[in-house]
Amino acid sequence: MHKRLFIPGPVDVREDVLQKMATPQIGHRTKDASALQRSISDKMRKLMYTENEILLSTSSGSGLMEGAVRSCTRKRAAVFSVGAFGDRWYEMAVSNNVPADIFKSELGQPTTPEMVEEVLSTGKYDLITVTHNETSTGIMNPVDEIAEVVKKYPEVIFCLDTVSSLGGTKIPVDDLGVDICIASTQKCLGLPAGLSVCSISQKALDAAKEVPHRGMYFDLLALYQYIQKKDYQYPSTPSLAHMFALDYQLDNILEEGLDNRFKRHQDMAKVTREWAEKHFAMLADEKYASNTLTTIKNTKEISVSDLNKALGERGYMISNGYGKLKDVTFRIAHMADTQMEDLKKLLATIEDILGL
Ligand SMILES: *Cc1c(COP(=O)(O)O)cnc(C)c1O
Repeated sequence: MHKRLFIPGPVDVREDVLQKMATPQIGHRTKDASALQRSISDKMRKLMYTENEILLSTSSGSGLMEGAVRSCTRKRAAVFSVGAFGDRWYEMAVSNNVPADIFKSELGQPTTPEMVEEVLSTGKYDLITVTHNETSTGIMNPVDEIAEVVKKYPEVIFCLDTVSSLGGTKIPVDDLGVDICIASTQKCLGLPAGLSVCSISQKALDAAKEVPHRGMYFDLLALYQYIQKKDYQYPSTPSLAHMFALDYQLDNILEEGLDNRFKRHQDMAKVTREWAEKHFAMLADEKYASNTLTTIKNTKEISVSDLNKALGERGYMISNGYGKLKDVTFRIAHMADTQMEDLKKLLATIEDILGL
């Protein structure tokens, strides 16, 4: 039996979207391939509210995260971490020999604009990375307030991890002044894993020109230059299967209407938070609670793995807590094409299993 996924990636994929993955292959050096990749970029710009160029990568989002910090740090990177994914961005910098410092918030707490101000005012950094939506803690950082601070430092390249939020909540890339905004297909975009996408500003491209060793596969400047020269074709063979499905799914997303889509996510988040408060407790403060997934404190000390086993028998799957938060929290994702009725059925099933 298929288990309906309420885990924060990979998400359930609509049958019609899955079918698009089975589109017969085309040559990756054909006009059709150019048109497909250009079409995705145009639609993606709408979803990201940006006029910047879009890069597609046949890798999961981590590849572009590594590429961003390596390609565009000239002096030193300041990595702000609110959990597992921020920590990993720091490890990516260090393992690529990119000078970097990490600034961690306590688990369940956000990155604050004050922290960013204090760090950038030292003048030591020319690139920062911020996790928009931390999938381990269910924190959505106050990116508007952070962006206001970053704007005061025009030499700083602003990299934003929106892997688990793009497509589920509004991220106005140009208004925020985000230079590199990164997402993967297997979360709020509602596709299988294997492709990722980022926007890249002229400022980030200019910064990359000053970095001598940018690697190769994830050299963002080289990717950019290649698609300009070759009409949106990429240096190596891309996953065309994902591209067929993504192009189609972006039509679905734009047809739903971005505001409707974001409101659907917000409404599902509200229901999940109320349910969490009623039966358990929230890890995040209301102000910073994510719209795309909810991390719930396991105040009843239930066995999360037993719960998931019982849910599995009824065709559902949720997530245990991540890393240190395993068993003391559990997570319910409400993203991509999940609908309110699906979510309500899941919550009722959990109540039934636990006798709540
Ligand atoms: C899933 C996730 C990642 C990692 O993305 P992959 O596509 O698995 O490489 C990074 N950051 C956040 C916030 C995530 O949720």
